Amino acid sequence: MTDQQARFQGLPVSGITEEFGTPLFVYDTDTIRADYGRLRAGLRPSVDVYYSLKANPNLSVAAFLRTLGAGAEVSSEAELVTALRAGFAPEDVIFLGPGKTAGELEACVRARIRAVVCESLRELRTLDALAARSGTPGPVSVLLRVNPALAATGSGLAMGGRPRQFGIDADLLRRSRAELAALRHVRVEGIHAYLGTRFLRAQDVVQNTRGILAEADRLGAELGIPLRTVDFGGGIGVAYFDGENDPDPGEITDGINAAVDDFARDHPDCRYILEAGRCLTAASGTYVVRALDVKESMGETFVVTDGGTHHHMAAVGVGSFVRRNFPLRVLNRHGAPATTRYTVTGPLCTPADVLAKQVALPEIRPGDLLGVERSGAYGPTASPGLFLSRGYPAEVLVHEGRAHLVRRRDTVDDLLSAQRLVEFRP
Ligand SMILES: *Cc1c(COP(=O)(O)O)cnc(C)c1O
Repeated sequence: MTDQQARFQGLPVSGITEEFGTPLFVYDTDTIRADYGRLRAGLRPSVDVYYSLKANPNLSVAAFLRTLGAGAEVSSEAELVTALRAGFAPEDVIFLGPGKTAGELEACVRARIRAVVCESLRELRTLDALAARSGTPGPVSVLLRVNPALAATGSGLAMGGRPRQFGIDADLLRRSRAELAALRHVRVEGIHAYLGTRFLRAQDVVQNTRGILAEADRLGAELGIPLRTVDFGGGIGVAYFDGENDPDPGEITDGINAAVDDFARDHPDCRYILEAGRCLTAASGTYVVRALDVKESMGETFVVTDGGTHHHMAAVGVGSFVRRNFPLRVLNRHGAPATTRYTVTGPLCTPADVLAKQVALPEIRPGDLLGVERSGAYGPTASPGLFLSRGYPAEVLVHEGRAHLVRRRDTVDDLLSAQRLVEFRP
């Protein structure tokens, strides 16, 4: 039977589930290395690739990307600590996000990270004051996050060209030259912009990069800021659904290189940051669930599994406009012909808890293992793990042919230990 099993670096899936149980996420370092490697190898050395921990903040996933040479882009104090514990040097870390607390800004100042990406003028002033009080030598480096007037092309999830809580409107920034010049304890190193996520066409990523570089050039000149760094975001998509294709990495890197070469003519010493979350980890991950029941209802056949919304809200489609199926396959009878249409659900008490609607699979029996593929990004981190008090799943990293438990599954005690019981009098 084992020869019919899906394998991760040679390890049969049943061995992994016997050791660690289900449901669980399996991440394959070979895939991460290949996906990171294609970007890194294709880009000019002046472009730094920063891993957005938001996509998958697992400590070991982050640590593996560090060993490959990535920097880290973090958006909370816990992500900052994760990056530092994962071994990223502070000078390879940037912190961004529209609602940084004073505590988070202080942590950035203390750690002396490469740059704080400031998202408002108030935040800049707060950081300036904190830096003054901290007594650390030299100014704190910042990038100004601009909300450009240009709209992104190629994504329904465009972030530029409309009112947003992110960044500083380009028009406001243009009027802030005097205010920026008055800052004593922060040094503006350059410009950051992020135009959205899930861009599936290379030409859109390239065009957005060009748009951001042009905006950075104008702002740098108008504000009198020598540009040492431009962070042009990223948002490189991966294909999840029927009819989608991954963007061509070579086309992306060639296009970005050409844009950077043009920009470098006027800014020879500028460095660049490309932020990448999804495209570095999504393909590496499989969400492995076990079929608990197979049942009919009014002509439809359901497979009820032990995993769903609480671990993988994106696959369930909560919050998306149309529900579409992530790639899903049987893992323990790999290659068996698909004979039946099933609706695959989770165990939660909500009709929305559907992992795949009317998907063609081989005949499923209770105990079978199913895998939701391309699940290494925005899985547990973007899911309501406390829903129905189920807790978060185990996560396993397969590296050099060995399976490492990189997060244990939540226990009932984990879920209850942070709560306090009020002693009510009878
Ligand atoms: C979410 C986010 C990213 C990562 O986006 P992906 O689409 O996962 O690559 C990068 N930068 C910023 C500012 C983000 O908000």
